Amino acid sequence: MDAMGRRGFIAGALAAGGAATLRGSQTACPQLPPIAPSKKIQHRIFWSWDHSTNWSMNVPGEQNCGVGNEYTKKFGMFELDYRRVVDWCAEHGMEGVGIVGLLRDRHGGVDAARRLCGYAREKGVRIYLIAGLFAYGGIYYEGDSPWSLTKKLRERPDWVGVGLDGSPLVYHHMGSGGTKIEPMGCPSNPELRQYVLDSLDWLFKTIPELGGIQMEAGDNGVCQCAKCRARRGQAKNPMSIEDMALIYPPGGEVIRSRSKDAWVICECYHHFLAEPCVKTFRADSPDENVHKLLAMPSSTIFQWGTGDRYKDPAKWNDSSRMLPAFRKFRNILRTHAGTQWSDGRYTFAVERIRRECRLSCLSGADFISMFDENNPFYANSEFNYLALNYFAEHPLAEMAHFVRDEMAPRLGGWEPAERWCELSTLHKDATKILAAVDEIVKIASGLSADREARRRWLQLSAWLESYRFEAKFWPDPKGHDYYFNSFNWRRV
Ligand SMILES: [Zn+2]
Repeated sequence: MDAMGRRGFIAGALAAGGAATLRGSQTACPQLPPIAPSKKIQHRIFWSWDHSTNWSMNVPGEQNCGVGNEYTKKFGMFELDYRRVVDWCAEHGMEGVGIVGLLRDRHGGVDAARRLCGYAREKGVRIYLIAGLFAYGGIYYEGDSPWSLTKKLRERPDWVGVGLDGSPLVYHHMGSGGTKIEPMGCPSNPELRQYVLDSLDWLFKTIPELGGIQMEAGDNGVCQCAKCRARRGQAKNPMSIEDMALIYPPGGEVIRSRSKDAWVICECYHHFLAEPCVKTFRADSPDENVHKLLAMPSSTIFQWGTGDRYKDPAKWNDSSRMLPAFRKFRNILRTHAGTQWSDGRYTFAVERIRRECRLSCLSGADFISMFDENNPFYANSEFNYLALNYFAEHPLAEMAHFVRDEMAPRLGGWEPAERWCELSTLHKDATKILAAVDEIVKIASGLSADREARRRWLQLSAWLESYRFEAKFWPDPKGHDYYFNSFNWRRV
């Protein structure tokens, strides 16, 4: 709901409900219509990269973006960071935490991973590995392990895929803030496929505490050798649905033979309504690989990205439903709200999350997932995380319900919480920040008895001021969102 829509909703509520209610010593909050009943999105999970997850604060080596980076913190910080995430999840009803780079020599390899997975299990939270099968370093992300795909492909250059010009298939992560250059394998190679299956077997044998895996075939370009092209036809995607169909079913079998309760998550990269999915993932597909995929056990979990479809009702709306062939499985919708991948890492994305939860639930999602690398000290991130859980629990709730139930108690009452929704989005317009900060200082000065609420307001004002300060150095009077613009191959 936009600002006008929210005001209209609240005005209607006041007209209908009449009296305002007082929540303790907080400011008056209107009598809102009850939340429309509906089913829930049962499971809520986080995912993250190891190198840029910063839940312990003020630590040397922090990174604020990236994919495929070196790990730059001191040994031991990995476990401290993720224990914090696990504690937060246990406290707030989040069920799992996916980690890319779980297995790395630099932060303790198998031993550290086992300790973390065991700690999480004790708290009722699952750690699941996110790993590429033909790309992204494989099961053991980085180090001197036979299950590091990068190491293996150096030893076996004949397993490396090829680009259109016949050169070895490698990916440079620099555009997304990454530092690594990683070779990718040729999925048509039977030796490599067997190696991938053996690495999955090793993983679940070696870390029995692991809660599952999100398997990825790779989305940074695919092998263009004659065999791969013959398998795929003329599709020009940087990822291959055919490659997924080739490895996910046998991968799932290997995992289940070691761990009966593991989450077997198959990443599909696309929104389920994207054209390649609608076209390929059909019960009447002539492709035998697709039939193998659709024959996977019904406990298999498929993961789809939400992308920016929530913006356009023509692309995703209340009537949209999961692809018929996938309704027998469990399905995750994964959002990039409030992260470097879309709006910016510290931004307030609650309204987007509300819409995505609503649409995901109505579409039939069993899981909803978001990125959790940012410390919830940053209150916009905290509200985003809380929103994911809240709107998964109440998919038909309106923004005002969230403001009343989750924000008002954390910000000193209904009225200041309402103001947060506007003030927190002014960072892109430096001309408005001075007045916003003046207002925040006033709000904060009335909160001396509620230090946590005051902390959130002061953090917001410091964040806004950082944009005003930077705006002096940019020619655009509205400032420059260089955090967002410098990420992911965009122009600085
Ligand atoms: Zn190939």
